[in-house]
Amino acid sequence: MAAPGESHIYPLPTTQSRQTSPLTTPTAYIILGGGVAGLTTALELHSRSPTSPIILLAKHLPGDLSLSYTSPWAGANWLSVATDNGRQEAWDAVTYAKFGELADEAREAGVLRMPIRAVFDNAWEEAGVLSEGTGRVWYGGLVGGLRVVEGGELPEGARCGFECDSFVVDVTRYLPW
Ligand SMILES: Cc1cc2nc3c(=O)[nH]c(=O)nc-3n(C[C@H](O)[C@H](O)[C@H](O)COP(=O)(O)OP(=O)(O)OC[C@H]3O[C@@H](n4cnc5c(N)ncnc54)[C@H](O)[C@@H]3O)c2cc1C
Repeated sequence: MAAPGESHIYPLPTTQSRQTSPLTTPTAYIILGGGVAGLTTALELHSRSPTSPIILLAKHLPGDLSLSYTSPWAGANWLSVATDNGRQEAWDAVTYAKFGELADEAREAGVLRMPIRAVFDNAWEEAGVLSEGTGRVWYGGLVGGLRVVEGGELPEGARCGFECDSFVVDVTRYLPW
């Protein structure tokens, strides 16, 4: 655990390279933060530009617990809350595809295929899940279809819901990986 105010300087460990579009010019990178965002960014950069030096600066690293270090406390599931009919949905689609790769090809990463059920205490139109412009849940096609949960399957007070194929991430495995 780092002392308050102290930062680790963390050289990127060697990892297996992954499929991505290569970055052609070697460039030095400094990444701020050792949570899921910083670590995943470091891995992606390394796989796209293996000869580029990458330095990750962070107060907290995998193994640390702190109220200001979110990632070790996460669930974590893939369930997109993007409704912009634009780049946020596109980012979430990339994550879904990446989780599929990790679940199938890097079991040690802690990403598992698992269905998810989402239920809402508002009607579809007010539940905040419909994409702007299309009026649909944007990822139905991406995840292989949504199964609407209705009637007696809904918990008391819920108005609508659906199930779909998704992923769960064991952050205690993903972060050190
Ligand atoms: C209970 C819970 C359940 C969740 N469930 C889900 C879920 O199912 N699906 C999902 O997608 N998301 C979920 N989330 C949200 C998700 O966990 C966070 O969005 C994510 O972990 C944020 O990661 P991060 O890398 O951006 O930030 P963090 O994990 O907080 O990492 C921040 C990094 O920056 C460093 N840092 C910050 N400030 C400084 C500084 N001044 N100097 C040096 N270093 C600094 C920290 O030390 C740390 O290394 C959940 C969160 C919680 C708490």
